[in-house]
Amino acid sequence: MKTKNIKAYGTEAANWPLHSMKINRRELNHHDVEIEILYCGICHSDLHAIRNEWGGTTYPIVPGHEIVGKVTKVGNHVAKFKIGDYAAVGCIVDSCRECEYCKEGEEQFCESGWTVVFNSPDKQSGGQTYGGFSESIVVEENYVLHIPEKMDLASAAPILCAGITVYSPLKHWNAGPGKKVGILGIGGLGHMAIKIAKALGAQVVVFTTSLSKVEDAKRLGADEVVLSTDAEQMKKQSKLDMILDTVSAKHNVNDYLNLLKVDGSLVIVGLPADQLPVGAFNLINGRKSFSGSNIGGIAETQEVLDFCAEHNITADIELIDVHQINEAFERLAKGDVKYRFVIDMASLRKSQ
Ligand code: NAP
Ligand code: ZN
Ligand code: ZN
Repeated sequence: MKTKNIKAYGTEAANWPLHSMKINRRELNHHDVEIEILYCGICHSDLHAIRNEWGGTTYPIVPGHEIVGKVTKVGNHVAKFKIGDYAAVGCIVDSCRECEYCKEGEEQFCESGWTVVFNSPDKQSGGQTYGGFSESIVVEENYVLHIPEKMDLASAAPILCAGITVYSPLKHWNAGPGKKVGILGIGGLGHMAIKIAKALGAQVVVFTTSLSKVEDAKRLGADEVVLSTDAEQMKKQSKLDMILDTVSAKHNVNDYLNLLKVDGSLVIVGLPADQLPVGAFNLINGRKSFSGSNIGGIAETQEVLDFCAEHNITADIELIDVHQINEAFERLAKGDVKYRFVIDMASLRKSQ
């Protein structure tokens, strides 16, 4: 298979800094689109993966799954994109297309295993997939999204993971008018969840461990903010229909099950490496559900992009250059970002 050698940023080991490296992208098949990457967000999943916190990382790894760019080439049979279009790629770049879930547009549950944009076996080219910390990417058109006109490209990038990951469960569990929804953790996912839940019409209660984010949560749209380290504030909290848990580290989910109404759901999207023990009594008292959700399918990712455009929602970002990536990961590990780092990929093209 013909390939193109391009610049990327990645690492060969869990304890090594990311650095400039070269990777290969396949030449275009008939339905492929080549995208020059303009911006790529940094998600906590990139951090878990480069440090091998979940196990299963294959090195070298090039992370990045919140990709926005411009179409530079299209295969002979591409119908949905033309050269010059703005386009985006999230987590999913391939799936079987035949199973029940692929047919329903829920490729994230593909029975044959979908291909993640990075650190995943590449069924087309062999080897591993390499993500968006790179100059360009080649993806089949069915897994490429359209960026609505006039969206700010850099601050739209986090919609491709953070946005869809919170939109999908908020929709699935009917967050909307008359519903009181809790958002746990104000990071990349959490701050998008506040904006999206509010736009869906829900009453939004935010739980944070960070005093410095309390006022900000109101600016982001929260109706109420609870400092979760303050036992008195937790005790006073009225009951919620649903809580969306975006926390990236070990925490006590039982405290939050106790804040649910009868038939309420605690939905996990955060992926701490440690297990989260659940007390059975906390579930049976109130017929509560402890559930989870994994990003969202391709059609729903387009839907959240369009929804965000319609409601003027983008992420609050800190734009960085590639040489700041390692510092950004250090800060992300400490929760020191308001609220998403996005890399300006022009800086990779300019770098030596
Ligand atoms: P992030 O920006 O680092 O935000 C995580 C937030 O969790 C922090 O800002 C902090 O909020 C809170 N937190 C961190 N450590 C905590 C602790 N020990 N106790 C309580 N709260 C704590 O991360 P992100 O990019 O939003 O990602 C969040 C999680 O979702 C990660 O585990 C990521 O891998 C996962 N994820 C899952 C999916 C999926 O499909 N399910 C998709 C994307 C990401 P406060 O300061 O407000 O307390
Ligand atoms: Zn992510
Ligand atoms: Zn499938």
